[in-house]
Amino acid sequence: MIDPAFFKTADLRLMRAQYACLMATQSREVRLARRPQGEPGLDCFAFATVNLPDPGPGEVLVENLYMSVDPYMRGRMNEGKSYVPQFEIGKPLEGGAVGRVIASGDEKLPVGTFVLSMYGWREAFVAPAFHLQVINTSVAPPSAYLGILGVTGLTAWVGLFTIAKLKDGETVFISAGAGAVGSAACQFAKMHGCRVIASAGSEDKLIYLRDELKVDYAFNYRDGDARDHLRNAAPEGINVYFDNTQGLQLEAALQALVTYGRVAMCGGIAGYNVPVPGPRNLIQIVGKRLRLEGFIVSDHFKEMPVLLAEAIPALASGKLVNRETFVDGLDSAPGALLDLLHSGAGNIGKMVVRLSG
Ligand code: NDP
Repeated sequence: MIDPAFFKTADLRLMRAQYACLMATQSREVRLARRPQGEPGLDCFAFATVNLPDPGPGEVLVENLYMSVDPYMRGRMNEGKSYVPQFEIGKPLEGGAVGRVIASGDEKLPVGTFVLSMYGWREAFVAPAFHLQVINTSVAPPSAYLGILGVTGLTAWVGLFTIAKLKDGETVFISAGAGAVGSAACQFAKMHGCRVIASAGSEDKLIYLRDELKVDYAFNYRDGDARDHLRNAAPEGINVYFDNTQGLQLEAALQALVTYGRVAMCGGIAGYNVPVPGPRNLIQIVGKRLRLEGFIVSDHFKEMPVLLAEAIPALASGKLVNRETFVDGLDSAPGALLDLLHSGAGNIGKMVVRLSG
């Protein structure tokens, strides 16, 4: 018989862990309700509550604490084939999440272990232990593994150094520079002695870029012509463009690149809701012998140890900043995704949903 006083005082999570076998765990989740045409609305999402089974042998029950919100999810809401499977109508969305094991059927992941998973967009889940990655929360806060120490940081790293082969002392232009990937890219480039030009869509973001990330030149791409900004920022031209947006900023960058310049084609957020026309000056690629190369970060996970070896000490010493914008509760998640897809979006750094647990 359990002493009733226990329920008054005990932490709910501990109670769930110890008595998981006595109670069904419920989890709310966000599902795709309909596929958007153009700009999605909140009616594209639905909430549902499911009962989770107790974890079987080799499985764990995880309570999510933080969830990543990522622009690429917009593409997964569409119909058709892509490099990742599309979300299915009536099924939960997926995404990066950090959580804590609250009941375990696997001795390698005891209760209390912090794990990284792709089981986001839900409060809790049961999964095989081998689907999850243990994270070390003694060197960084858990949510950092969704940002600069996770896929976000790796995207910036791979784009700059593996794809664009950025060299110390070069000049690089980074669009969406105050976002998650952009913030990481600006800082890695500065750490490698490069001159950094970054664009963003609001005054707050320009202040952040100049004062916190110490970029050399920040401009609002919604204010004036990006070609003029780049001419002012780098009269001699830019060596590398880290492209998060495509659209007019890609066109401006092609104009500003030096001969043998390189472009890491990371994303094209200007056209995720409604396609934008391509650059009108592709001929620049020929005359200047430019190299433009797309990449998908999941092809480069083996490079993660190189990133972590540099980023963990830099974060600990304060040389690196992992700026995050938190929204609270599962109900805020769809709105946070829709916001990211707009010019001048509310996030500075990584957009993270914080779950109360
Ligand atoms: P961010 O944190 O940068 O958020 C998206 C930002 O995009 C917004 O904050 C907004 O900033 C900007 N934006 C929105 N609409 C527009 C527009 N119409 N024109 C210009 N800028 C716009 O997201 P992430 O850092 O997660 O992603 C950045 C890019 O990297 C995306 O294109 C994403 O798809 C890509 N990506 C690619 C990966 C890969 O493997 N290739 C992996 C991960 C991300 P602002 O206020 O400045 O307008």
